[in-house]
Amino acid sequence: MAALLPVEEAQARLLALCSPLLSEKISFSECFRRYLSDNIVASRDQPAAPLAAMDGYAIRFADLPGPWAVVGESAAGAAPGRAVGAGEAMRIFTGAIVPDGADTVVVQEDVAADGGLLTLTSEGPDAYGRHIRPRASDFAAGDCLLPAGVRLSPGAIAAAAMSGAVQLAVGRRPRVAILTTGDELVQAGRTLAPGQIPDSNGPMLAAMLADEPAIVSLPHHVRDDRQLLSKLLKALARRHDVIVTVGGASVGDHDHVRGALEDAGGQIEFWKIAMRPGKPLIAGTIGDALLLGLPGNPSSAFVTATLFLLPLVRHLAGAREPLPAVQRAPLATALDGGSGRRDYLRARLDNGYLTPLVGQDSGMTMPLAAANALLIREIAAPPRIAGDIADYIVIA
Ligand code: AMP
Ligand code: MG
Repeated sequence: MAALLPVEEAQARLLALCSPLLSEKISFSECFRRYLSDNIVASRDQPAAPLAAMDGYAIRFADLPGPWAVVGESAAGAAPGRAVGAGEAMRIFTGAIVPDGADTVVVQEDVAADGGLLTLTSEGPDAYGRHIRPRASDFAAGDCLLPAGVRLSPGAIAAAAMSGAVQLAVGRRPRVAILTTGDELVQAGRTLAPGQIPDSNGPMLAAMLADEPAIVSLPHHVRDDRQLLSKLLKALARRHDVIVTVGGASVGDHDHVRGALEDAGGQIEFWKIAMRPGKPLIAGTIGDALLLGLPGNPSSAFVTATLFLLPLVRHLAGAREPLPAVQRAPLATALDGGSGRRDYLRARLDNGYLTPLVGQDSGMTMPLAAANALLIREIAAPPRIAGDIADYIVIA
């Protein structure tokens, strides 16, 4: 039997099969969670002039402790009408331009204004420049605000908008087809005959992709029929960048994904990974599409989708770092040693401590529903005690 592929090697080989899709320019409202294709370089200073950070009076620090003659007002949205001279103060509001000559803002709580005379009622500003946002203190024209390949968070969209950009170049979203396989599967809501089960992987994969930049077509289903599967793969490959099949990836008499892929003119790139659950994962190509064949057990499908499907979609959509981040935390309980495959145990991370869930049978859905982390146990890892540090991936 061919050696099982290490997870990292399989991930690298999968991503090497395809380049990111071309980019498109879209408006801010559409680009949440998309991946930037180009660096965002600021075309302006922010702020473009020194601004008040508080409501109060713009003064010259050298004039403290006052009093001052109040000479007009500066509100957000307009340039101040004049400069501030020695012994003068200008009423100013948060976000307004600080007038020339002034260098400090005294907050309104610290002063009393009477007729045009302003006097200090407490300590006042303790340093030159207090309560002023200097020009370009957020960013300066020419600064690279966000590098290509980052995922656009709400905060990143704020920075891009503030930079003066109108549209953003982002990677196109891959078109993904989910294809469930199996004679036993019935769509939710239909009556179950003996031996039948509801399809849970279809809705689960659709949910996993819902947060990703992907155009997911309606879930497709096919019986355990090699010819039908082959025909469907051919048809789906014409209209999708990725076909993700689930089930039928192993060596049973009713496992037809590899055979059907070959019948359809596709190629298997690799099969079988040194991981548990998820060993029978298949990666292949068919026409211009990639095929990812996930094993059917719910936990196997979930873990392989986390480690392969989501990174593939992110890579195609232009992500610079498509793989899930591996983090570290102490174990809440002891953990048995590892096997010949790397384990991804369904686990809870609570209050900073990791606990593997009871019930690691890959056919179970309840541990999946409860888990918020995948606890990673390396091949042949020694037994661990509570408090030992372990690797994990956040999943919820
Ligand atoms: P397979 O990978 O086709 O051998 O399936 C392995 C196990 O996963 C079997 O018990 C299947 O009934 C189950 N299974 C396969 N596909 C799904 C699905 N879409 N939803 C729920 N269970 C599934
Ligand atoms: Mg099956």
